[in-house]
Amino acid sequence: MAQVTESDLALDATPVDTLKGVGNAMAEKLAVIGIHTLQDVLFHLPFRYQDRTRLSKIGELVPGREAVICAEVLIADVVVRQRRSLLVRINDGTGSITLRFFHFSQQQVKQFERGATVQCFGEVRRGPGMLEMVHPEYRIRIKHESDTALLDKTLTPFYPTTEGVQQTTLRKLTDQALAQLGTRALTDFLLPDWVQQSGLPDLETALRIVHRPPPDVDVNALMEGLHPAHRRLALEELIAHRLGLRLLRVNAQSQRALLIRPAGELIRGLRESLSFHLTGAQNRVLLDVLNDMGSAEPMLRLVQGDVGSGKTIVAALAAAQVVESGYQVAMMAPTEILAEQHMLNFSEWFEPLGIGVAWLTGKLRAVQRRSAIESIAMGHQRIVVGTHALFQNDVEFANLGLAIIDEQHRFGVHQRMALRNKGAEANTLPHQLIMTATPIPRTLAMTAYADLDISVIDELPPGRKPVTTVALDNTRREEVITRVGAAIDLGRQVYWVCTLIEESETLQAEAAEDTLATLQQMLPRHRVGLVHGRLKPRDKEAIMKSFKAREIDLLIATTVIEVGVDVPNASLMIIENAERLGLSQLHQLRGRVGRGSEQSSCILLFQAPLSNNARERLGIMRETNDGFLIAQKDLSLRGAGEVLGTRQTGLAEFRIAQLGRDDDLLDDVSAIADVLLAQYPKRVHGLVRRWIGEEKKEYGGV
Ligand code: ADP
Ligand code: MG
Repeated sequence: MAQVTESDLALDATPVDTLKGVGNAMAEKLAVIGIHTLQDVLFHLPFRYQDRTRLSKIGELVPGREAVICAEVLIADVVVRQRRSLLVRINDGTGSITLRFFHFSQQQVKQFERGATVQCFGEVRRGPGMLEMVHPEYRIRIKHESDTALLDKTLTPFYPTTEGVQQTTLRKLTDQALAQLGTRALTDFLLPDWVQQSGLPDLETALRIVHRPPPDVDVNALMEGLHPAHRRLALEELIAHRLGLRLLRVNAQSQRALLIRPAGELIRGLRESLSFHLTGAQNRVLLDVLNDMGSAEPMLRLVQGDVGSGKTIVAALAAAQVVESGYQVAMMAPTEILAEQHMLNFSEWFEPLGIGVAWLTGKLRAVQRRSAIESIAMGHQRIVVGTHALFQNDVEFANLGLAIIDEQHRFGVHQRMALRNKGAEANTLPHQLIMTATPIPRTLAMTAYADLDISVIDELPPGRKPVTTVALDNTRREEVITRVGAAIDLGRQVYWVCTLIEESETLQAEAAEDTLATLQQMLPRHRVGLVHGRLKPRDKEAIMKSFKAREIDLLIATTVIEVGVDVPNASLMIIENAERLGLSQLHQLRGRVGRGSEQSSCILLFQAPLSNNARERLGIMRETNDGFLIAQKDLSLRGAGEVLGTRQTGLAEFRIAQLGRDDDLLDDVSAIADVLLAQYPKRVHGLVRRWIGEEKKEYGGV
């Protein structure tokens, strides 16, 4: 048999340092952006292009676009206004444009003599008077050189990069890798039939086009990511992500879980103590959950229900069942204030039944923390409510049976994993119940939550009335304050939400304190309270308690009340600077009112002038209370990464696919992924590794 030579190695087995120009130092830098092999080079994809393959006529230039032009110098002039600059007016017979330079030498000024032909590339902008290019790349054309001499053979790709790795380096590397694409093997994990049915090119063709688009490519399609070559790769990437999550699931479900199948005494007791009956939807979802937990496979279930749909009691009933089976329950929320509220609810529900509820957050004092951790480890505490602090390494459960995560969009895949591993001893995983108020469009769910089963609480408790929403210009603030006073006189309670763009809790707190002073002054007869992120948990809790107990009429708050806070008697909400907030956040905030039987209203105060996007957002808020519709609008206005709470989801990390744009591929994605898992399991790992890489331990470990 022939000896294996280096050229027999497949692209994914050929280290990047076999390429010219890659030494140890460069290899280390490339590793930072996930490039280890030639396959990695080829799947490190451009995020934009420049088109230097054709000449544009000046008369047809569009501001905001980049273009190559070739024209004759009319006049070059050094002017001194705010800054000394060199202005060169050129004309190509179809029109004129100004080249503007702030840094230039005398030598350059001379180059631009009248009648010289100059070829330049740059972004076209609207200048004072006429179009201009600021600091274009340019060359004075030498005699006899043709118009097209300096044009590129392909579009110019731009790659995501890191410090110390230039675009030119990445282009040289891709050139070399593309040259080996014909000789070294690259596995095409998708069957040709699947791809051809969708009218897409094969893998090799797609890679060549995406890296080096030929001049005759459909430039608009390419720039918008709609070219078939793009879509071929996006399809593969989406499949890889879906498979990654499916593998996580398979892995989790290969482990055992505790059987939760007691007589249901505690559930009965808790149900009987409630002042309401569960809705049909709540009952249905609870049944899903109890069925899951009654089997030996760990539950991985996402419960989605719009704000106010009553997710908490469903979680509590599930918890009751686990406690009756003799195991522990952890209930985790993304913020202190939300955790506190669950603490209050759970204590109210469980203490009368003789079950204590423990409390664990990052802000506990060392002594309290130690004693909480100890009793959790001993198993004395059956129910623990808290924040991220529950993830920490020193927290060990005696026998965790169920982990509940509330408002899931704040926790990403990585945290989901961390929790999954908690309590995972001797191959036993806790059941997991994840709750979110973010209505997840189907497409997003299929991609971001492919590791989870989904139940939807699609019904609100009876008697809820939709919140009436108006948007008012800030100039009408005093009028609004008068209205607040009148509402309080009618026995209503009011939220006033202060928002700032600043991330800093201190600045937010200061702004809220200013508002407090103003409102106190204007509403002297009314009881005004303030809650913000800088307060001690104990103080926050005290204020929320007295608001709930109607000892406070008007609660001024920062967006800390965004999620979960529940005071049914509050029926008016004012949101300041509403134009700065995203749709989902506005919907979450507004969900704090409309929880009682009272007709509720929400006033969105805004600062004119509004951007188009902001105007659209406020319009949607006025028109609908439907969280699902709002989520879909949000997705189309902002994109998936933002909607799900950013980077943590891993969704922002797509290389080429884009939710929203590529949604029509998703049916194929799940169909193909299922076939791969069932019939071609050997291909699955290679595909996941290609797109998600080795670094992601969460996926890599599967
Ligand atoms: P969310 O789904 O937003 O977390 P909550 O669990 O906070 O909603 O519930 C909102 C409010 O509705 C709470 O006051 C809760 O006690 C109440 N609630 C829940 N289920 C019902 C029901 N079936 N009937 C009446 N009120 C309910
Ligand atoms: Mg909630």
